[in-house]
Amino acid sequence: MSEALKSSIYDIVVIGAGIVGLSTAWQLLQRYPKYRILLVEKELEVGMHQTGHNSGVIHAGVYYAPGSLKADFCQRGAKATKAFCLQHGIEFNQCGKLLVATNALEKERMEALYLRCQENGLEVHQLDQNQLKEREPNVKGVAALFVPSTGIVSYQKICQKLAELFVQKGGELRLNTEVQNLDESHERVAITLNNDVVHTSYLVSCGGLMADRLTKMLNIPTDFQIIPFRGEYYQLPAKHNHLVNHLIYPIPDPDLPFLGVHLTRMIDGSVTVGPNAVQGWKREGYGRINIDLRDVFDMVRFPGFWKLLMNHWRTGLMETKNSWYKPGYLAQVRKYCDLVSLDDLQAYPAGIRAQAVMNDGSLVHDFLFSQSARTLHVCNAPSPAATSAFPIGAYIIDKLDEQMTSV
Ligand SMILES: Cc1cc2nc3c(=O)[nH]c(=O)nc-3n(C[C@H](O)[C@H](O)[C@H](O)COP(=O)(O)OP(=O)(O)OC[C@H]3O[C@@H](n4cnc5c(N)ncnc54)[C@H](O)[C@@H]3O)c2cc1C
Repeated sequence: MSEALKSSIYDIVVIGAGIVGLSTAWQLLQRYPKYRILLVEKELEVGMHQTGHNSGVIHAGVYYAPGSLKADFCQRGAKATKAFCLQHGIEFNQCGKLLVATNALEKERMEALYLRCQENGLEVHQLDQNQLKEREPNVKGVAALFVPSTGIVSYQKICQKLAELFVQKGGELRLNTEVQNLDESHERVAITLNNDVVHTSYLVSCGGLMADRLTKMLNIPTDFQIIPFRGEYYQLPAKHNHLVNHLIYPIPDPDLPFLGVHLTRMIDGSVTVGPNAVQGWKREGYGRINIDLRDVFDMVRFPGFWKLLMNHWRTGLMETKNSWYKPGYLAQVRKYCDLVSLDDLQAYPAGIRAQAVMNDGSLVHDFLFSQSARTLHVCNAPSPAATSAFPIGAYIIDKLDEQMTSV
């Protein structure tokens, strides 16, 4: 084997330096300290997409079906995230969260969520109207759930620390490097980058909004596609930085994977409102009218997209209207906090969720993975994947371990 070929061969390559890829790469190096491990990221910095455009909440695990990967990963992930922050001096705040019911239907749904919290073994308290007022004088509702363990953090800071540790331990991080093609043979996987070709014994892809395209490069049979859902935020002016003491969430529609517009205390002391969930026309385009022809073409060719539209057209229209009509957006917050006015809604960057949708139009609620003999792909890593990144990484490594012994 020539020296040039030898130097381009890695034991494991990880694609994507969002929080899932970084947590995986860092834990891989701890499990296999002698391996050559490469982490490839197409952007100039780590954590530039979903991980750098989210609410920064360390979720406790309120909503997730008992026994699901989400329920398990979220609870273990919240503990691991806080432990990592403590170990590395990253600021976080366990400010707790209130889920506020504003009418009888929401109270009924809230009670179902209370039972779910109990099934998931979470500490949760039911508050009546007076107890809610005591905790949150500026919030109105008929009842609430109080979850003390929910916290806030900057996931981008966690990513920066993970990247630093990964490189310090001998991992190779290539930024500004896009994976353009993958080719798997019996012995290894060839990876065509924008500036090089490298080879690896094993590959893990954590491509977020591009997850389906990476699996398609290997012709792995899958029956999902990523549909981008914009999450638009506003920021409140500094005079409202102490408007709320906790994170304030509405009671969500149990049929949808999105949590509803909430008041979020951010780790920098500000308060944001959002995010909504609006159909996006560009996977990694953050402006409201960004359109990418390839993204649109892929979407309209996908039968699941049309079925999704048919199933949720009413919600879709409402979300789109409120996206363009600020008073509509405001009404969602004023339902539980009427001190927020139209002038308080100041511009703030949007995020875009990578939501896997199946061919039959159903939204994938849980984490989803796919595999070939030498590759493993994270296909759906929706919220709370930032909270869950450490156990997701450990799960991937266990799966990879099984692959290594069976190949
Ligand atoms: C609006 C919003 C709010 C959220 N709020 C929360 C929250 O409060 N708490 C929580 O736990 N979760 C939250 N989430 C979910 C969480 O942010 C994501 O689930 C998580 O960040 C996913 O991480 P990731 O590493 O899988 O994806 P990403 O962060 O999107 O990273 C994927 C990376 O892969 C790279 N990539 C893709 N294709 C290629 C290629 N071909 N070559 C090289 N690199 C490539 C991309 O550039 C990107 O950096 C939120 C998400 C959104 C959008």
